[in-house]
Amino acid sequence: MRKNNVTIKKTAVKSGTWQYAPAPESTDHIEIKQQYELFINGKFVKPNSKKYFDTINPATEKKISSVAQANTKDIDLAVKAAKNAYDNVWSKMPGAERAKYIYRIARLMQERAREFAVIESMDGGKPIRESRDIDIPLACNHFFYYAGWADKLAYAFPNRKPSSLGVAAQIIPWNFPLLMAAWKIAPALATGNTVVLKPAESTPLTALKLAEIIQASGLPDGVVNIVTGYGDAGAALVHHPLVNKIAFTGSTPVGKYIQHAIAGTSKKATLELGGKAAHIIFEDAPIDQAVEGIVNGIFFNQGHVCCAGSRLFVQENIAALVIKKLKRRMDTLIVGDPLDKNTDIGAINSKEQFNTIQQYIKLGIAEGAEMYQPSCELPAQGLFCKPTLFLHTSQSHRIVQEEIFGPVLSIQTFRTIEEVIEKANNIPYGLSAGVWTDKGSKIFNLTTQLRAGVIWANTYNKFDPSSPFGGYKESGFGREGGIHGLASYVKFEG
Ligand code: NAP
Ligand code: MG
Repeated sequence: MRKNNVTIKKTAVKSGTWQYAPAPESTDHIEIKQQYELFINGKFVKPNSKKYFDTINPATEKKISSVAQANTKDIDLAVKAAKNAYDNVWSKMPGAERAKYIYRIARLMQERAREFAVIESMDGGKPIRESRDIDIPLACNHFFYYAGWADKLAYAFPNRKPSSLGVAAQIIPWNFPLLMAAWKIAPALATGNTVVLKPAESTPLTALKLAEIIQASGLPDGVVNIVTGYGDAGAALVHHPLVNKIAFTGSTPVGKYIQHAIAGTSKKATLELGGKAAHIIFEDAPIDQAVEGIVNGIFFNQGHVCCAGSRLFVQENIAALVIKKLKRRMDTLIVGDPLDKNTDIGAINSKEQFNTIQQYIKLGIAEGAEMYQPSCELPAQGLFCKPTLFLHTSQSHRIVQEEIFGPVLSIQTFRTIEEVIEKANNIPYGLSAGVWTDKGSKIFNLTTQLRAGVIWANTYNKFDPSSPFGGYKESGFGREGGIHGLASYVKFEG
């Protein structure tokens, strides 16, 4: 039997659904070196530390490659290269010329999109469907979008005179490695800044591939530098006196550390931090679509999404129906090989994150919540976690209040719109939220009262380069994407 060009085995699995035959993406078109160096001043150079660390494939727990570990000296060289490129080349170049380089990077990325997608899934564990259809196209689109702004900054900020800041230190997490790099590098270049980017230690490979593309694009040496390493390399960047701007995406504790570190300096910062989004389903919602939205919001990409809809609020009179449909949908989710096109939930990014998620699942049970997991089989090897649902939770439970960053969803019910607004806002985070209802008036009522930077209505997890993204409260400040994303990289004269 064939469906969507995929052969379906005629053996029924326990839940009564059909099982797909494996459909793995091929890896014969990708090139991964055994060892990667630091990308500083347009060249790949050995680290002063003389140290390398392993990046592993979380689906197999096997090493993929060795990656250079930058120390303070390496960070200093990278920042000085960026400063030199800023002073002598990039800040003097007209916007229309800068745009040509950014377009070229976008096109080269697009040409190698398949290779990027496979490496992203191997290094980070996310399903190929997601890296192929979301991460890589969106990353390319960010470069295209901001290339278009480079010579139009005067129109982005009418009657104001924007000028660049200097050297931008950009520190990114492991959940959307290439996309986060694109979110940060593209607007910085469009506005005339130079960059030192540090990827997360567990997912450095696509950023290093991007370095190869940047080199091939002929971008002047030092305009973008990519340095791999641990948190201490990130900290050295934050403290470097020649850095003018810090763009950080990551956890709230490291965001707080950065704020302390730059207090009293002239460094500008944008911080995109953790989240614990409220996903709200009203009785008049299209329930089947809402269930699909819930699944998309928390289980795809293993819940490794800062804006994951991890707190579900369902209006009381439809709760039983929503839970029944949600459980049935969870039973059909395929957990397994990230490179298989049928996979819904790939591998957890690292052993550390895997242990954190397992601890939260134990904690949920200890707090008295009722756990549901489908009976699906997990691969014998690798870091995999079943989609997990917690019923009978309350506002005071730690699994409701704290960011788990895994495929774990807690459900609460509500009766009135006032009650759900109160509950949804009763959290230190304020990054995103979702609402499902047939009534436009309810959507407007909620969006004006929920303290969240992004609110999706009758959909979830939708992104576009022209749309700003960012948080309130402990989810950080500053916006990325759209014109707002340009504003984070300029100062105004007068
Ligand atoms: P993380 O531990 O804060 O790490 C983020 C980056 O900061 C990594 O490159 C990390 O390097 C580096 N770093 C660690 N300590 C540092 C220090 N003292 N100074 C400077 N840099 C330092 O976060 P994560 O665990 O990778 O990512 C998950 C978190 O990111 C979640 O909380 C999630 O919500 C958040 N996130 C937010 C958004 C958003 O847009 N708001 C988007 C994606 C993710 P190492 O990898 O070497 O530790
Ligand atoms: Mg890895």
